[in-house]
Amino acid sequence: MKKYETKVLKASEESVKLAGELIRSGEIVGIPTETVYGLGGNALESTSSKKIFEAKGRPSDNPLIVHITEIDEVTPLVRDFPYLAKKCAEKFWPGPLTMVLPKSDLIPLETSGGLDTVGIRMPSDSTARAIIKAAGVPVAAPSANLSGSPSPTEAVHVFNDMNGRIPLIIDGNNSAVGVESTVISFENNAIRVLRPGFVSPEDLTEITPNVIIDDGVINMLSKDAVVKSPGMKYKHYSPDADIVIIDGALDKYIEYIKNNASESDCCMVFDGDELDVKNPIITYGRDSEEQAALLFSTLRKLDFMGIKKVYARCPSKDGVGLAVYNRLLRAAGFKVIRV
Ligand code: AMP
Ligand code: MG
Repeated sequence: MKKYETKVLKASEESVKLAGELIRSGEIVGIPTETVYGLGGNALESTSSKKIFEAKGRPSDNPLIVHITEIDEVTPLVRDFPYLAKKCAEKFWPGPLTMVLPKSDLIPLETSGGLDTVGIRMPSDSTARAIIKAAGVPVAAPSANLSGSPSPTEAVHVFNDMNGRIPLIIDGNNSAVGVESTVISFENNAIRVLRPGFVSPEDLTEITPNVIIDDGVINMLSKDAVVKSPGMKYKHYSPDADIVIIDGALDKYIEYIKNNASESDCCMVFDGDELDVKNPIITYGRDSEEQAALLFSTLRKLDFMGIKKVYARCPSKDGVGLAVYNRLLRAAGFKVIRV
């Protein structure tokens, strides 16, 4: 698909203004945010959302997240803004938290993936905010990767996936958080985590002790399960390389590699891990925050290196680690070996 001469412009007053104009006129622009790069379009126009799905090759029942810059902007977009949601907005916005709320008629079904709800987020990244303000409309923005591949955390990742598919990419900084936003919904007096992110379940307990982690976060859903967060059911974040997660201490991991891996298989481990193996080694950070920031670019590097098979050390499942684990599980097609 080659519809556009895709331009990449450094974030500046001028390029932000151009991005805003393009979005308002119905085009799709690659934009930096603190989570990952997004593909932004006018959230209120069904034709814009259709263009986003087309550029990404995304199944049309997988909803887009709507990005705003002020809390006041929520009210016209929803039928209800419950107390717990207001508390979350006050505490975590602007930042990497998406709240699923009943949508108003302003949000077309094309944006919500056919659902009666809409996911809303207020990003903190200054370029993202300036672009949304310049557009003058709420901006629907899924991650700016081709559907199924790792999310982009650098403008060059967006260019590699979207060259020819969109007119403009704004190059801001590398995404600081590196994994997509935490997605939550509300029921009775509880918060349900549909997708983990930088705002952890522990952080959410500051709003209410009733925080439920949805089954789909770490389990493969059966075909007939009701999917509360449609993105979870698709193959996701996958490099071409075949990934297997090895869950256990470093000495057990090394023993497993020595007994099972062939020499060309890659070891994907933590910074600081010492391995006396002949295999290629790639590292993805020391702690959970670093791993979140580096995971997707590391997955893209594996393909660049032409790696066919990867044994990844299992990240921590606590705090931000749960988000890293959730993404790596999907990238590995849920292949986990406990050692
Ligand atoms: P992405 O655009 O890649 O960040 O993905 C957006 C994801 O957020 C979707 O795949 C869903 O999993 C989740 N999401 C967005 N809107 C909703 C919604 N209305 N209900 C449930 N999940 C949502
Ligand atoms: Mg995505």
